[in-house]
Amino acid sequence: MDHFQLKDGVLHAEDLPLPAIAEAVGTPFYCYSAATLRRHARVMKEALSALDRPLIAFAVKANPNVAVLSLLAKEGLGADVVSEGEMLRALKAGIAPGRIVFSGVGKTDHELRAALDAGILQLNVESESELRRLSAIASGMGRTAEIALRVNPDVDAGTHAKISTGKAENKFGIPIDRVEALYAEASTLPGIRPAGIAAHIGSQLFDLAPMEAAFTKLGHLVGRLRGAGLSVTRVDLGGGLGIPYDPSLPLPPSPADYGAMVARVTTGWNVQLMFEPGRLIAGNAGILVARVITLKSGAARHFVVLDAAMNDLIRPTLYGVYHDIRAVVPRPGTMAATVVGPVCETGDMFAEDRRITPVEEGDLVALMTAGAYGATMASTYNSRPLVPEVLVDGDRMAVIRPRQTLEELVGLDRVPHWLKEGA
Ligand SMILES: *Cc1c(COP(=O)(O)O)cnc(C)c1O
Repeated sequence: MDHFQLKDGVLHAEDLPLPAIAEAVGTPFYCYSAATLRRHARVMKEALSALDRPLIAFAVKANPNVAVLSLLAKEGLGADVVSEGEMLRALKAGIAPGRIVFSGVGKTDHELRAALDAGILQLNVESESELRRLSAIASGMGRTAEIALRVNPDVDAGTHAKISTGKAENKFGIPIDRVEALYAEASTLPGIRPAGIAAHIGSQLFDLAPMEAAFTKLGHLVGRLRGAGLSVTRVDLGGGLGIPYDPSLPLPPSPADYGAMVARVTTGWNVQLMFEPGRLIAGNAGILVARVITLKSGAARHFVVLDAAMNDLIRPTLYGVYHDIRAVVPRPGTMAATVVGPVCETGDMFAEDRRITPVEEGDLVALMTAGAYGATMASTYNSRPLVPEVLVDGDRMAVIRPRQTLEELVGLDRVPHWLKEGA
């Protein structure tokens, strides 16, 4: 459920009409609903309430805006970070180091040092060589790194190939049959304290069965590790629960269904469980609002050209996925439209031959479910400045990231003196 609803024929973000926000900040812009973010954090907490002290670490990569992270910090969420930059954002948002976990398949020495300096809860180690590197760095600093070994459980998550992470051929994690030996080695390495294991099998999952299969494998692994006399106090089950993008499709499993499955599968594990939801928290809490620049009838198709493009929201181009497109002030009827952006790429397309409510030049449209993997994946391709982000809370709004100016966009380029005129 989200708080982007029609009121008196105008799409609102909570209590604010979107045309008023467009007037204030220009288009395109991202708009987030604070009530929706809070609601999703609470739904997730509620779904996991049968567990003992679960730690919900928001996957910062889904939406790293420091204002969004601050709101989620107030809801008690921790952070799952995958770079020094994300860690800095989480700390800036007031998320305690003791609620931060650092994931990622290629952490640099510099990042490992920064994580140890910050004193975060846990590093999820993805390879044997990373474990040895971390041991050397931590012991050199006189620190002990609490780690989990990220396990590749070799299950097919049944999602898009580009967001599957738990198959044997994926780059993520340590093959499950090598984990026991490495965990035993980790427990002898200087500067390392193994706390447990972690897995994350993919994103936008619409079926609980692969997750259950992976978690069941983790449970057996915990038993084997303990059987070998090793201590396991935490298990990180990752994120990945899907959310509805296309209203015509069946709904994904609910957080409550997910929580019930987790409670059942993990009974008797006697560990602190950690979760890393990203999309589930932020996805439906954000939209991208754009204006129709031009209507254009091609030989075969009717094009609607927006002022937003693939550089602002790349998911349709990258994954071929669906975002609902709604008119902000809907007119009666429907039209068939191929909705595109102005970027010089054929792949710059939000929807192909889609029936939408009719739009005219100058109308506002909202690309729904853009709060996760939206603004954060934006680029400046075609020298298009990054668009602003707005947070609405009831009848209040704040620009939480202003529109990049052309000066900021171009001003970082440096022309070597030997190319300058007269040189
Ligand atoms: C991307 C990612 C997540 C979040 O995935 P969602 O599908 O957004 O919930 C969690 N953990 C890890 C390690 C990730 O790479």
